[in-house]
Amino acid sequence: MSFKTLSDADLSGKRVLVRVDLNVPMKDGKVTDTTRIERVLPTIREISEAGGKIVLLAHFGRPKGEKVAEMSLAPVAPAVAELLGKPVAFAQDCIGETAKTAVDAMANGDVLLLENTRYYKGEEKNDPEFAKELAANGDLYVNDAFSAAHRAHGSTEGIAKLLPAFAGRTMQAELEALGSALSTPVRPVLAVVGGAKVSSKIDLLENLVSKVDILVIGGGMANTFMAAKGINVGKSLCEHDLKDTAIRIMEAAEKANCEIVLPADAVVAWEFAANAKNETVALDAIPADAMMLDVGPVSIEVVKQKIDSAKTLVWNGPFGAFEIEPFDKATVAAAQYAAEKTKAGLLKTVAGGGDTVAALNHAKASEDFSYISTAGGAFLEWLEGKELPGVVALEA
Ligand code: AMP
Repeated sequence: MSFKTLSDADLSGKRVLVRVDLNVPMKDGKVTDTTRIERVLPTIREISEAGGKIVLLAHFGRPKGEKVAEMSLAPVAPAVAELLGKPVAFAQDCIGETAKTAVDAMANGDVLLLENTRYYKGEEKNDPEFAKELAANGDLYVNDAFSAAHRAHGSTEGIAKLLPAFAGRTMQAELEALGSALSTPVRPVLAVVGGAKVSSKIDLLENLVSKVDILVIGGGMANTFMAAKGINVGKSLCEHDLKDTAIRIMEAAEKANCEIVLPADAVVAWEFAANAKNETVALDAIPADAMMLDVGPVSIEVVKQKIDSAKTLVWNGPFGAFEIEPFDKATVAAAQYAAEKTKAGLLKTVAGGGDTVAALNHAKASEDFSYISTAGGAFLEWLEGKELPGVVALEA
């Protein structure tokens, strides 16, 4: 993977269009979680210090080509300004005269946020004319929004073909971390895939068995694999119609020399609720009226051994219903173990996907992981081995 970074760009005096992810959670007109803003600050600061004019491009919500007032980025500008520690101007349009006037008024080092790119249908359609209008306000293009890179939109793909294009620092960090986990990893590579259903992760599992040395399957999706092997999973979450898919994945793994590790024991309960009455049982003793909500202590030991044997770990999805105690135990134990190994310099750990971030935060393991991706869809598509249009456009 080769792409240009800010180090390759001559930024001084240039109008730099920077695609960022400012799709932040908001309540009553106030930003309630600033994680995404914090992630793009290094790129903004670096361009500003180098004397570039930063013109931020972003989407907010899904206005579907209409100017929906509730999906304006206007309230986000002061939140960026506060964290950045310098003023951020706002233009009520992302193209046309309004945008041009605001960009023309900028001095070197200034920051301007343009209104929601998705106010125009051309954005999601990746209309070349729309991309051209966006590009008219810049000399250079920087993409710092990995989380939007799985979409071929005007501001993520079309524009990159029209201007010299560079990866921002956050995009660069993400691509380097992901590359070192699957493209050019230190082996053996262990993948942990958990979560609710096989159906949402078929492509991901198929890609991983061809790339990693060991694949540990946990969570509700493991039940489908266990059922495919003839284990009675009682009332557990299980996609019985996907047993053939599970068998196909196990066969593909065998061919590719990828070891698949399924749970060795189960924590079962009779209701999906916090502190529900539960029991740890062997796999051949799952009661017909109970459901498996976590893997048991024997499984945790096996996972730890597999972590010991690996040099690289890629993780998506929890081992159990981690939101309700005590069914968070395996997820917490495995996450903390991986975090310890990472801290000791023995393991590289890359994790991502919506619930995974929450699960690792819950385990207080996030800080010690090598890299945690907050990009939901883009991270999963990368795990599926798909090319991300926003990234390909930077490589061109
Ligand atoms: P995903 O978004 O596919 O990663 O799935 C995450 C969800 O899977 C979480 O909300 C967990 O509660 C749920 N989950 C994990 N293991 C189980 C299980 N054994 N039974 C039911 N739900 C589970």
